[in-house]
Amino acid sequence: MTHPIDAACIFCKIVAGQIPCFKLLEDDNTIAFMDINPVNPGHALSVAKGHWPTIDLIPPPILADVAKTAQRVAKAVSKELKPVGVNLLQANGEGAGQSVPHLHFHILPRVAGDRASLNWAYKPGDMAAIKALCERLKAAL
Ligand code: 5GP
Ligand code: ZN
Repeated sequence: MTHPIDAACIFCKIVAGQIPCFKLLEDDNTIAFMDINPVNPGHALSVAKGHWPTIDLIPPPILADVAKTAQRVAKAVSKELKPVGVNLLQANGEGAGQSVPHLHFHILPRVAGDRASLNWAYKPGDMAAIKALCERLKAAL
């Protein structure tokens, strides 16, 4: 299936290799990488390779692939980081807290008492720590 591209989109640029990411895995229709503004350590994203902004626009087979990649990452997060729980989150539209209009699931490991909410503010993470977590999760995939 051809993947639509929006040249101005940050995730399309990551898919194209134009800007770097801490990549976990990649297959025909999906890519997974670490979120650089993590809510908690190990926060990762499962992203469609094509530019489909929201759940109503993405072809169902691609959505299934994004979900499968999210499952693989969630399993690695659970195995390696042993969080108290893991949320999968997917936002559609600014009103839902979506800041990058390119379909993705958050894989969000939970920390006891973190009071994580649906609309969190970006807080840049420590890049060395994110890189180290990426390596650990890659080895656990
Ligand atoms: P949304 O708000 O659309 O549900 O989630 C977008 C996510 O993408 C945010 O958690 C944000 O931290 C993350 N993000 C934004 N820009 C970049 C980037 O350049 N690289 C990475 N790895 N993540 C990004
Ligand atoms: Zn895009």
